Parts: sequence; structure tokens; C-alpha cells
Amino acid sequence: MSGKWVIFTDVDGTFLDAHTYDCEPQRPAVERLKAANVPIVFCTSKTRAEVLHLRKALQIHDPFIVENGGAIYVEKDYFPFPLKKGVLRHGMVAVELGTPHRILVEAMDRVEDETGCRVHRFSRMTDRMVSKVTGLALPMARLAREREYDEPFWFGPGPPARQKLFLKSIRRLPGIRVTKGNRFYHLKGVANKGRAVELLKAFYLRLWCSSTFIGLGDSANDIPMLRAVDYPIVIPRASGQVDPDVVSGLPTVLRSPLAAPHGWFAGAVMACPDLPRTGAGERRARPRVE
Ligand SMILES: [Mg+2]
Repeated sequence: MSGKWVIFTDVDGTFLDAHTYDCEPQRPAVERLKAANVPIVFCTSKTRAEVLHLRKALQIHDPFIVENGGAIYVEKDYFPFPLKKGVLRHGMVAVELGTPHRILVEAMDRVEDETGCRVHRFSRMTDRMVSKVTGLALPMARLAREREYDEPFWFGPGPPARQKLFLKSIRRLPGIRVTKGNRFYHLKGVANKGRAVELLKAFYLRLWCSSTFIGLGDSANDIPMLRAVDYPIVIPRASGQVDPDVVSGLPTVLRSPLAAPHGWFAGAVMACPDLPRTGAGERRARPRVE
């Protein structure tokens, strides 16, 4: 394995269109990057089962980060050295960083009782309900419910003051954090995408001595990942607007000219013109610094 760049990327709203979830538009870019030995590391709030499905569809074998930094999974022998705190799980080496899902759900139960604010959350929903709120096909909704380190939730209609109280109360709990993705809030432990990226960066630097790290994301939960890379790139929403939290949460960030899916590779190429080009959805515009 040889290489110069490593791409860390969020999935929904960044690599995949946030509504169609279709990975086919990315296939030409992925093939070019694979041919150039550029690792594509998914760093997402999705579950292990969901990411495995996506990697299989695109035949990507690079490490991946699940559930907002809850765990890193690496194929056996990908790195020619043992990974610190790595354990064999599901046939891969896993580095677990997150808080068990059961603890998160129990914390949420308590805060719901205290505040009288009952939230919608994956652990209370059927596959069919998750499919309805996310637009995922039913089999994918099933994979999305296999949560280990992160509980997606959102508020229904109700007094905003009570919702504020819920968020305030749950953020006060030790070891519990709330972050926001492009669709839901996420309850999780102190692990985040940035911590997981830092660990993987260390593995790549041990492998190659020097690498350039690119990060692509669209939402607040991507900020720790984007802070950890050399080239942070924000992908705008379909409306053309970028998430203001991402812009305000980083000293500088490059803005892709396009939304997902084409904005993914277009943004990466803007940051690193040496990346192998595909011609699809790619622009030679100067990167816009926010
Ligand atoms: Mg996203």
C-alpha cells in the first residue's frame, strides 16, 4: 500500500444524497481513488451494518468509523502492526471508543421522566417507522436500528421551552453528549468523530510517515472530524446553503461548489488538485474559504 492522501468522509448529505441514498453517482470517483491508492474512510453516524452494506456495494476495504466516533473498524492485516486497544469483532479489528447504547437509552429515559418531554427515538420505533422518517428502504432501516453507541432522536410538536429543558438537562449528565446530524439529534458518549479520526491518522502516519488528510462533512457532528484534518471541506445542502454551525465551528473551511453527491469529489479536488480526476461533477473553480 502506498499513498499520499487519506479521505475521511461523512456519508449522509456528504457522500450520499441525503434523500436518495444512492451510491452509484460516486462509483467513478471511488474507482479512480482506489486505483490511486487513496483510502476512503467513512466517518458517519450510521451503524456498522449500514457502513458494511455501503462498502460492499462499492468494494471499499478501508477502515471506517461508525456512530459518531463510537468505534473504528479495520480489516485484519490492513495495517501491518497491531492496533492499540484493538479487539477482534465480527471478523474485523475494532477499536471501541463509545458509550454502550443501553446506558444512553437509560439516561434518556430518566431525563424524559424529569422534564416531561418525550422524544421520538430509534429505539422506540419499528423498522417501518424508521423507514418512513428517513426515507431509507425497509431493509436499510433495519440496519440503521442496530445501534451500539448512538441514539438518534428528534422532537415532535410541543412547547419549545420543554425541548430546551430536555436538551439542557441531558447535556448536564456526566459522560453524555448531544450532537446534530443533517437529520436528527444524536445522543452519545464523549467519543466523537474527531477522536476516532486522530487515532486513524496516527495509524496512517505510522504506515506512511507523511500523509495529507482531507475531511468532508455537512453538519455540526462533522466539526470534530473537520478540525482534525489538513483540508476541511463543507458540502452545501441541496438549497446551496451550508450549515452555519459548521462554518462558525471552524477557523477556516473550504466550501464545495456543489451539494451531495457530486459536491463530494468536486470539493476534494478543489482542496487537493493532485487527486485523480474523474470529470464527473468536478469543477476547477478556486476553493471558497468560509
Ligand atoms: Mg451528514
